[in-house]
Amino acid sequence: MPEQYAEESLGHIMLSEAEYPGKHFRTRTGAPRVAQHDNRGFFSSLLGRAGLGGGLFRTAELPSRSFRSMGTMAAVTLGGDYAGRIEEVTEEIRAIFDRLESEMSAYRPSSVISELSRMAGVAPVRVPEDTYRVLSLGQHFGNLTAGAFNIGASPLAALWGFNGAAVPMTLPSDQSVGELLELSDYSRLVFNDGAAFLPAKGMAVDVGGIAKGYAVDRAYDYCLSAGIRDFLIDFSGNVRAAGRPSRKQGWQIGVRDPFDGSSILGKITLSSRSAVSTSGSYERFVDILGERYSHIIDPRTGYPVTGTASVTVLCPDAVTADALSTAFFVTGLNGAAELLEKVSSVDLLLVPDGYPTHLWLTPGFDKVLSTPTEVRRSLLSCQ
Ligand code: FAD
Ligand code: MG
Repeated sequence: MPEQYAEESLGHIMLSEAEYPGKHFRTRTGAPRVAQHDNRGFFSSLLGRAGLGGGLFRTAELPSRSFRSMGTMAAVTLGGDYAGRIEEVTEEIRAIFDRLESEMSAYRPSSVISELSRMAGVAPVRVPEDTYRVLSLGQHFGNLTAGAFNIGASPLAALWGFNGAAVPMTLPSDQSVGELLELSDYSRLVFNDGAAFLPAKGMAVDVGGIAKGYAVDRAYDYCLSAGIRDFLIDFSGNVRAAGRPSRKQGWQIGVRDPFDGSSILGKITLSSRSAVSTSGSYERFVDILGERYSHIIDPRTGYPVTGTASVTVLCPDAVTADALSTAFFVTGLNGAAELLEKVSSVDLLLVPDGYPTHLWLTPGFDKVLSTPTEVRRSLLSCQ
């Protein structure tokens, strides 16, 4: 079976007030949760809100366009005052995303990232500025997270059948995992005078856990420079917003229920910490001997992460949100407190893989997330 992924990786759930409160909050009846090969794959939904006490209006009432880039979906929504500029802004953002994709796609042999991996152990490769910045940020987040975030984990990801590699018929042996663990080390990436070098043959880099967040930040900068003040960019669950959709209300985001693709766990209203990223095990996975394995690799063991269903990070910028949502997915609940102590202005919602659904949140996330009362919530006591 091939790697499964979202055909349409972003799908806003467009809700009206009448639909929102009951229908999209799951009420469980006690049915056992089965491994879901859920490839509908939307992470977050955008809820335009008309007024404090007023109804949620359909996102369709705001100017919004979506398009495909980096193997997934992106959407741009503008505040109503900018309706006349939606085509122009979307085209510019699409061009930014496509340019970054052509530099950084591990799925394109022509990209500089593919070239870097091909030239591992052979020679340094000159890298353009954005790729250089993403690789440097990758190393930064690797150090910050004690290697939980690891852009060098690509050889392991391929062993498990991700990033276009063939899915193995049986579980990889401990020996093959062990051999690739040594090669999967982001810290060995060397920079010198505008060039990057992977020092051993077999090493490879994969910026799939950070590049969409970086791209969203570049699109955010573009929008501000173009005089757009009210906008929301959603690149497959990597969101950054500015301003507000209407004069009275902020942008609202629905956090997808990892166990039910048609529902949301709750909604948050974005403020100055305007970036949100969700990492989940439900969107991309392989099936080996009937078991589901997530696309996020625990670089400490070499095995796909288990135990976490989804992580949502709220912070000021999209690249940090993207990298840290992947990193907290790896640390899981056990390592979350330790990592939270090392970061600032970061709030977290972590949903362990288990039944019944249990939300673990930082106090800051707890304040902004509204959920139905029956969902169990616990505070992550750190920061
Ligand atoms: P995130 O949690 O943000 O990241 C998970 C991804 O990061 C994994 O899929 C893997 O790539 C990597 N990763 C795994 N473990 C770790 C770890 N421990 N630390 C750091 N990173 C890790 N997909 C296609 O199917 N076809 C394409 O043509 C295609 N092109 C792409 C081009 C670019 C430039 C990028 C960045 C990605 C592309 N993708 C493509 C992949 C896809 O769009 C997403 O990146 C992928 O689905 C994971 O993103 P996410 O936000 O779901 O998960
Ligand atoms: Mg990420």
